[in-house]
Amino acid sequence: MKAFEVVVARNSRHAVALLAERVPTAKVKVIAGGTDLMADLKFAPSSHAPDVVVDISRADDLRHISMTDAGLSIGALVTHTEIMRSPVIRDLFPALLDAAHTIGAVQTRNLGTLGGNLVTAVPSVDSGPTLVALDARVTLLSPAGQRAMPLADFFVGPRKTALKPDELLVDILIPRENLGKPACFLKFGLRKGQALALVNVAASFWVDWDRNVFVAPRIALGAVAPKVIHASSAQAYLEGRAIEPAAMAEAGRLAVGDAKPINDFRASAEYRRDLIAVLSRRALEGAYALAQSKRSGKVAGGLQASRRGER
Ligand SMILES: Cc1cc2nc3c(=O)[nH]c(=O)nc-3n(C[C@H](O)[C@H](O)[C@H](O)COP(=O)(O)OP(=O)(O)OC[C@H]3O[C@@H](n4cnc5c(N)ncnc54)[C@H](O)[C@@H]3O)c2cc1C
Repeated sequence: MKAFEVVVARNSRHAVALLAERVPTAKVKVIAGGTDLMADLKFAPSSHAPDVVVDISRADDLRHISMTDAGLSIGALVTHTEIMRSPVIRDLFPALLDAAHTIGAVQTRNLGTLGGNLVTAVPSVDSGPTLVALDARVTLLSPAGQRAMPLADFFVGPRKTALKPDELLVDILIPRENLGKPACFLKFGLRKGQALALVNVAASFWVDWDRNVFVAPRIALGAVAPKVIHASSAQAYLEGRAIEPAAMAEAGRLAVGDAKPINDFRASAEYRRDLIAVLSRRALEGAYALAQSKRSGKVAGGLQASRRGER
């Protein structure tokens, strides 16, 4: 591993100042939990290795889970374990808790941050689908100020995001209009734990209970395209349609056409297509089950958490 300088940021503004100072003349990387970056550094060819690493792990202003006028704001430094332990997230978005629980093992979840997970932008990123299905936005900070964009646009391709070298991801916002929107996340890997997703899916929608129809349906797919994508034709098909098992199954079939799964040593494209159809349908069923239990006043706690008996 090539030697590099480490500079420690006191807070997000300091981190951005350090980036502004160093980026013009050096290869600079940010480190949060380090679960991805340390592996990259170990194996990176020296031409790609950074000269400077800006450590943001002590920037406590990035560590919040807070309700704002705009919605639920989750700081980039919040770890997967903190997401799993957050009563607000458990109440409003149990699917996020389910997604966090599937990431690596305890040690990875204790160190790994939401921001780091999203910036790595691997197609199978497990935090991605639920947040995309909830129309989450990300806030980026640079010396020029702040800009925000939908998470779906932040992901550009495999390991590529819209982040500029002097920008820091500071928070992830789930907009106010989606607070409590029923959502469900499902992941299928080759093992129960410590597995990359062959396919991961999240679905969310509101229910118009008078007409029992889908309102603002979203299906987000991971690991089956260069980045996390909306299953746009499935979403368009469901909007305003009666909530019935046949409609959910058809949306699953349509979602297959929205994806571009690959053949690799883990699974064939054909197998992944079958998974997309099945998991999309099941995620819709899960979101509907959650909507029904919320309506009847039963406490929600995550579909997979309830299957594990952890509710
Ligand atoms: C054994 C193991 C198992 C894993 N299993 C899974 C899994 O099942 N699912 C899954 O999705 N991931 C998995 N991961 C990947 C990883 O743990 C997560 O992506 C984690 O959330 C990364 O967060 P981090 O804070 O450790 O990021 P770091 O390693 O610190 O950083 C990752 C990248 O993001 C950049 N970065 C970090 N924070 C910011 C920020 N705020 N602003 C700008 N850039 C930033 C860094 O420069 C770096 O390029 C696994 C990793 C390991 C080692």
